[in-house]
Amino acid sequence: MLMAESDYSFDIIVVGAGPVGLSFAASLAQSKLKVALVEAQALERLANPAFDGREIALTHASIRILRELGAWDIIPASDKSPLRGARVLNGSSGFALRVDAPRACGEPLGILVPNCRIRDALFKIVRMRDQPELLCGHSVIDATTSHKGAVVRLSDGMQLSARLVVAADSRLSPTRDLLGIGADINRLGHSMLICRVRHERDHHHVATEWFDHHQTIAMLPLGEGVSSLLLTLPSSDVDRLLAFSDELFVRELTKRCRGRLGEMTLASNRHTYPLVTTWAHEFRAPSAALIGDAAIGMHPVTAHGFNIGLSSQKQLADAILTASRDGRDIADPDMLHGYERRLRLSAAPLYHGTNMLVRLYSSERLTARLARHAALRFAQHFPLIRHGISAMLKR
Ligand SMILES: Cc1cc2nc3c(=O)[nH]c(=O)nc-3n(C[C@H](O)[C@H](O)[C@H](O)COP(=O)(O)OP(=O)(O)OC[C@H]3O[C@@H](n4cnc5c(N)ncnc54)[C@H](O)[C@@H]3O)c2cc1C
Repeated sequence: MLMAESDYSFDIIVVGAGPVGLSFAASLAQSKLKVALVEAQALERLANPAFDGREIALTHASIRILRELGAWDIIPASDKSPLRGARVLNGSSGFALRVDAPRACGEPLGILVPNCRIRDALFKIVRMRDQPELLCGHSVIDATTSHKGAVVRLSDGMQLSARLVVAADSRLSPTRDLLGIGADINRLGHSMLICRVRHERDHHHVATEWFDHHQTIAMLPLGEGVSSLLLTLPSSDVDRLLAFSDELFVRELTKRCRGRLGEMTLASNRHTYPLVTTWAHEFRAPSAALIGDAAIGMHPVTAHGFNIGLSSQKQLADAILTASRDGRDIADPDMLHGYERRLRLSAAPLYHGTNMLVRLYSSERLTARLARHAALRFAQHFPLIRHGISAMLKR
C-alpha cells in the first residue's frame, strides 16, 4: 500500500524503545502530538521481552513516575521485591557499613523489579493508546537536523521527518553519533556476570555490595531464598566462567561468595554486560535531544541508570507538553537548553561520584584499600551520611 507523504511526517520521532524510550512515548501518549517510535528489535521481541538478568532497583520517585504512566500496576506483585537495607563490605574485613530504611515509616529503601517486567508494562501502556506509531525491526541509519526540523532514514530505506528527534537508543547511541554529538566513553575492561540463585540462608531483603580483592559481588534479595548475584571481574575472567558447566559454575560462585548465602543452585541462565560508562558532551542539538542512556550511561554499581533516565524523559516530556499546550514550538532551543541544564545539574554529582567510588573500590593498591576501609568506618559513625544515602533512594 502506498503511504501519503503526511504518513512519514511526525511532530516527534523517538529512536529506541528501551525502557526510557517507551516511558517517554507513554508520557506523550495523551497529547495531540503525532509521535513515531522507531526500534531496531522486532515487534514480537518488544511484546515479549526476555529476562535479561537485570533487576532494577527503583527509587520511590521512579515508582511514582511509573504509577502516573499506568505501568506500575501492570507489573505483577510477585515481581516486586522490597529492598529493606543494604550493606557494604570491603575485602576480607568483617566490618559492614549498613544503610537501612527508617523503621518509623515502614517503607522499603526501594523496590527491585526485573528489567523485562518494566519493559513489558511500558510496552503494554504504549500499545493501549493510539500514539505512538510503532516502527519496529528498523534501525535508524541516518539523521540530519537543523533549526527547522529533523529527517531520519531507516534501514529499510524509509525516510521520516519531524519537528524534533529524541534519541533513546542506548549508551552507545548510533543516533547521537549521527547528530554529531560527542561523548566521553569509558570502557572499563571489566564485565558483570549476572544470574539468579536459590540459596539456603535468608537474605532478610537486605542487599550486599562486597568490594572484595580482585572481584566485586553484589547480592540483590528477590523472593524468599532467591537472590540475583552480580559478579564483576576482568572481561577475560567472565568469558572463562561463562564456558563452565552449570555445576562447575555454581561451585565456583559458592567459593567466591565464601558461603555467605549458604548452599546455592542456579535459578536462571547467565547474562553478561561489558562495563562502559558514557556522558554525552551535549544533551541536545538543533531539533534534537538525548534521553536515558544515550545522554548518560551510569556504572550499574549505584543502581541509578534507569532512575536518572526515567526522570530525564519526564523532564523533557513535561517541557514539550507545556510548550504544545501553550501553542509554542516543541523544539524551542531555549526549552531544550533548559532541559539540558537541569539534567546536567541533577545527574553530574551521581555520575562522577559513582565513577570515583568505582575507582576507589576496584583498586588493589594498599593506599586505596586503607582509604576505603576508613571511608566505610567514617560513614558508619556519621549517621548523616547513612541517612543521606537512604533519603536519596527514598526521594
Ligand atoms: C547489569 C545492569 C544492572 C543495572 N541495574 C540498574 C538498577 O538497579 N537501577 C537503575 O536505575 N538502572 C540500572 N541499570 C541501568 C539501566 O538498565 C539502563 O539505564 C536502562 O536500561 C537504559 O534504558 P534506555 O531505554 O535508555 O536504553 P536501552 O535499555 O539500552 O534501550 C535502547 C533501545 O534502543 C534500541 N536501539 C539501539 N540502536 C537503535 C537504532 N539505531 N535504531 C533503532 N533502535 C535502536 C535498542 O534495541 C534498545 O531497545 C543497570 C544496567 C546494567 C547493565
